[in-house]
Formats: sequence, structure tokens, C-alpha cells
Amino acid sequence: MASTTLRAVLLIVSTTAAKDPSTDASQAVLSDVLEEEGGGHWELVDTKIVPDVATQIQRQIMLWTDVAADTINLILTTGGTGFAVADNTPEAVSALLHKPAPGIVHGMLTASLNVTPFAMMSRPVAGVRNKSLIITLPGSPKGARENLQAVLKTLPHACIQAAGMDSRSLHVGGVRRLEAEAGIRSEPGHFHTHDHHHSHGSTHQHSHSHGHSHGHGHGSLVRYTAPSSNPMSNDPSLGPSRRNRESPFPMLSVDDALNKIKEHTPSPEITTSLVDRSLPGHVLAEDVQARENVPAFRASIVDGYAVVVPKDGNMKGVFPVVSVSHASPGEVKPLKEGEIARITTGAPLPPGATSVIMVEDTILKTMTEDGKEEKEVEILAANVREGENIREVGSDIKAKSSILSKGEQISAVGGEIGLLAAVGVASVKTYRKPVIGVLSTGDEIVQHDRPGDLRLGEVRDTNRITLMCAAKECGYEVHDLGIAADKPGTLEETLREALRRVDFVITTGGVSMGELDLLKPTIERSLGGTIHFGRVAMKPGKPTTFATVPVKNNAGARVTKVVFSLPGNPASAIVTFHLFVLPSLLQMSGITPASLTKVSVTLAHDFALDKSRPEYHRAIVSVGSSGVLVATSTGGQRSSRVGSLRGANCLLCLPSGTEPLRKGAKVDALLMGGIRGKL
Ligand code: AMP
Ligand code: MG
Repeated sequence: MASTTLRAVLLIVSTTAAKDPSTDASQAVLSDVLEEEGGGHWELVDTKIVPDVATQIQRQIMLWTDVAADTINLILTTGGTGFAVADNTPEAVSALLHKPAPGIVHGMLTASLNVTPFAMMSRPVAGVRNKSLIITLPGSPKGARENLQAVLKTLPHACIQAAGMDSRSLHVGGVRRLEAEAGIRSEPGHFHTHDHHHSHGSTHQHSHSHGHSHGHGHGSLVRYTAPSSNPMSNDPSLGPSRRNRESPFPMLSVDDALNKIKEHTPSPEITTSLVDRSLPGHVLAEDVQARENVPAFRASIVDGYAVVVPKDGNMKGVFPVVSVSHASPGEVKPLKEGEIARITTGAPLPPGATSVIMVEDTILKTMTEDGKEEKEVEILAANVREGENIREVGSDIKAKSSILSKGEQISAVGGEIGLLAAVGVASVKTYRKPVIGVLSTGDEIVQHDRPGDLRLGEVRDTNRITLMCAAKECGYEVHDLGIAADKPGTLEETLREALRRVDFVITTGGVSMGELDLLKPTIERSLGGTIHFGRVAMKPGKPTTFATVPVKNNAGARVTKVVFSLPGNPASAIVTFHLFVLPSLLQMSGITPASLTKVSVTLAHDFALDKSRPEYHRAIVSVGSSGVLVATSTGGQRSSRVGSLRGANCLLCLPSGTEPLRKGAKVDALLMGGIRGKL
């Protein structure tokens, strides 16, 4: 049992100090307060300086709250809380908070208002993100100290709870001591806890006495990627070159991203589908048996005459035509030896008939008086055997025999639907196809068909209609979620409403790290979702984001819904739809393999490569003269260039490299559409 050390970090928000750290006076003051008045609970494990730029503040905080291997218990910021134009720390921080803590704010303000009315000029915020408590202190060293002193005693208790520990399970002395120190209870005690804190969910955390970050704990990073697949360090103490990236989200390889999708896409749900025109494309969730025999009755397979074959098989002679059996329901008169019945293809045999003679093997002998009916027919066949030209009951498909298996897809091309229809199966258990919603985001995006010219900065919504059509083409029901403005409230409301109506949301735009790129924070903070990846090493489509969100369905049951946030550039959006969204949709629909078909193709010309990222190059694959598959580029591949999709039926998987791939080289191609022969 070791005395628990809580890990604190300090973020100095000051454009001046960012240029010249020697101008900062807060660090010394605040670390003294923690050390001298913190009851021995605190270790200041990291200090960083950022200018008054919201994204930089947020990036640094997320490195601590979302990426660091060991939990950071307390994040103190100092600076940027006033009314100056550049002051935006409270806004940057509050956008990240999962749980605001107005009580702490109140505590700080009350204490400093007792000292000076200028306390009104500070706009502090406090709250919890993941397992860390974040508090914004004013920039003046004096103000920062007074504010921290005002709340410091309560912080160990708050931080331990925020880290996910049930305080009741703490060592009793620990709680008592904490509460006594915070003025909640008066008995003295010792502040001791067990090393090992179990938190909710699958993650757990180790707090070590004087714990330095050695990267051996599992923090909230586990939400994004395995450390081995993470080229970005999850240890913030490694220095800026390793972590001062555009985004705190680790960069995954395409394969790792696809594995995340496989792992976190919800399992397919079983439902009952009618055997009708909407069935093709669905996958069976059960083995299906024939309900009936096919044919259900003994039927003729030719147009001709039903006969009763005599023992010697010799049917030569003239016979009276005693009845007619058409392919229509109803009673058929029995047949005796020496009589024949005219019969059409598919018509039921008269009871007693043992064979059918083709009309070609007969001659009309006599007619009825009105000349409308056959009276006698001569049969020219000898050596006739029983059962000729007859389909016996169940000879095509026996009742109760297995006709289709679980996991088989009912195709619109193949005859599965006909098979089900033939044997009288009216409904089958299938995997329900997710219902998709498509949303565009961006203040600049306008309806694609809005009449009139564009104003400066406006962009016609290209992605929504493209993705809705692509999803529909793949057989999914699609809801139009419209265009959401780049405002946190709007986006949150739109997504909440969407998640009530659909199983699967595809958004475009707003996934980079710009100030208005709100998708990631909204999914995590407002919707309580988990982002499984937020960056992928590929071109185009680097900021592609995959998340799942727990939602209660209409019946009150907990279900998991999927959110794919694709980059805004049209080519990126459609490429990442095919590459990432479609496999997830296929998996949720029970379709295997849940991936695009990969074929090997020969390059029809040289292809330049990207130096650092593998590229998914839009290309046209066709069947060359010798039957080989040949790939031609669709032209300029800039991610905004929607024309790069024109005619494309595949994504060429080009590796990164400095030299072009030469004409004639073989590469893998992922098929998006069918292949056609060369004209
Ligand atoms: P964003 O990912 O929001 O930064 O957007 C990247 C680029 O894609 C910007 O130039 C956007 O204007 C553009 N863009 C975003 N959404 C759409 C859309 N629905 N249709 C066409 N262009 C878009
Ligand atoms: Mg945008």
C-alpha cells in the first residue's frame, strides 16, 4: 500500500511566454503551491507553454487527457481567462469538457472576490475530460495562486473520483483524510490508497508512487489504437518533435484502420424479411428448407399425349383422345390403358397415366364432327417406358430439403429469389441492413441545386448527393440529413436527431483540426461516442474518422450506432466511403467478405507516387485485348477534384515512393464497380 501521488500538469497559455519562456512567472508560483500546500499529494509531471490559440490549447490538453499512457489527474492552465481579444482559454477548455464543474469555479471566484473586485475580470471554467480534472487559472501569478489555494484541498478527492475510482472502496484512512482536509469531515487520518485503481469500462490505470510516465499503464489511449500501431508517441514527455502534430489522434495505417472497423462495427441484427423485390442484397440468417415439393404434382415436360404404357411398351396404334389436361389447376379425369389424353407442358398427368408421348411422335387421325377437337390420334412410338417425359413429384426439389444456407446472399443476378419463390417460402430470417443517414457540414456549403450564382466562399454540396447515391446503389435505405452549420449546438442536435432515426451516420467535412472542425469533439463530448480512429496514413482521406455511439433505441434497449466522419473534399469523401464505410456496412449486413474485391491489374502508363503516403488512385480498369486487366488513371488526383471519379471503377493501391511506377507494372486494384471490355 503506497501513498498515492496525483499527477498534475501545467499549461501556460501566453503568446509572450511561448516566444520567451523566461518571461513566465506562473510556473514557479504554482508548483510551489502544489508542493507546499498540497499535502504531499501532488507531483507536477509536465509543464507546457502554448500561445493564446484555441486549437493549440486543445491539442495539448487532449494529448494529456486522451493520449497519455498514464492518467493525468489535474490539468491547470494559467492565462487567457480575461476579457482581452486574445483571451480564449475558457472557450477552448469548455469545448473539451465532458463534465463541467461549476462548484470549483464558484469556489475560486468567491475566494478571490474576497481579495479584490478585479476577480470579476477572470472567467474561469473547470470540469472533467476523460479521467482528468481541468481548471483554468488567471494569468497573473498572484491571481493564479489565490485561485488554486482556494480549491486545492478539495482537488485530491475530485481527481480520484474523476479517475474512475469509487471513493468508498478506497482505503478508509485515505477518504477520511481527504475529506478532513477538504473540510467535509474533521477526523485526521492518513492519505493512503492502493496502487491499482480499477475504472469502469475496459481500461484500467495504475497510479505509482512518484509515478513517472514509463508507458506501461493503459490510459484512455486504448480507445484509439494499440501502442505498437501508433507512430505518434503516447508519452507527452518525449518532447515536441514526437507529439507536436496537427492532431492528437494517432495516425493509423489503412490496414489497422480496417481492423478497427472490423472490431467495432456492431454485429448484424436478425430480422424477418418477406420474399419480395426488396429481398435481393440481404444475407440469410438461417438455413432455409423447401416448404413444398417442386413440382407439387406429376407433370408433363412436353406437349403431347399422356398414355398408359402396356407391358410390352409398344404404343403403336390409333387411340381415342378421352380428355385434355392443360397447365391449369383443376381435376383431371383418370386414364385407362387404350386411352390417351392430350397434355401440355407443365400440366398435371391424369391419374393412371404412366408416360407422355411427344406430339411430334403422333399423327392426327380423326376429328369431332364440329371439326374443333381431336377424336383419334395415331402414336408412332414403340418400346415406350414408364415415366418418360414426366417430372415426378419433388423430382426438382424435395419438400423439407435444404435449399439455401445461412450466410448466403440473395442476389438479384442469381436465382436465389426464384428458388425461395418456387418452394413456397414467403419469408426468411435475414440480417437487417443498416439504415443510413448522410449529412454535410460546413457554413460554406449550400444546397447543390440552389438557383442563382454562388456568393464568394459558397460551395455547392457535392458530397451529400454523391454519398446518398453510392449508398443507395449498394442497396441501403438512405435518409437525407441535410447540411449542418459549423456550430457545436447545431451539429449536436442534428446528430442526436439522426441517431434516433438511422443506424449509421455518414458526415463529411469538419474533421480536421481547424477551429470549426467540430465533428470529433461533438461525437466524443456531446454524444458520449468513442472515436476508434481519427487519422489514417493515406492519400486522399487522412482525417477519416470512425466512431461508435451508444444510443437507446425506441424500445429502451442499448444499441451501438456507427458514425463515419469523412473529409470534406469530394474525392476524399467518396474514396473513403468505398474504402472504409462500405466494409462496415457490409459487415453490419452480414455480407462476407466485408471488403471490396481486390484484383491484380497492369498499369497502362506511368503513375507518379506520393512520397510519404500510400495513395488510392481513381482509375479505370478494363479488360485488355489478351484478357489482362489494364488500369488507366482518371487524371489529376487532387482531393478536391471530383472529376477524378469520373468513369472510375477502381481504386489503385499505390505504395508511397519517390520513383514513378512504370507502365506494365502490376498493382492491386480495389473494384468499386463492374469491369467492362475495351471498346
Ligand atoms: P473540411 O473537411 O470541412 O475542412 O472541408 C475540406 C474542403 O472540402 C473545404 O474546401 C470544403 O469547402 C470542402 N467541402 C466540405 N464539404 C463539402 C461538400 N459537402 N461538398 C463539396 N465540398 C465540400
Ligand atoms: Mg468545414
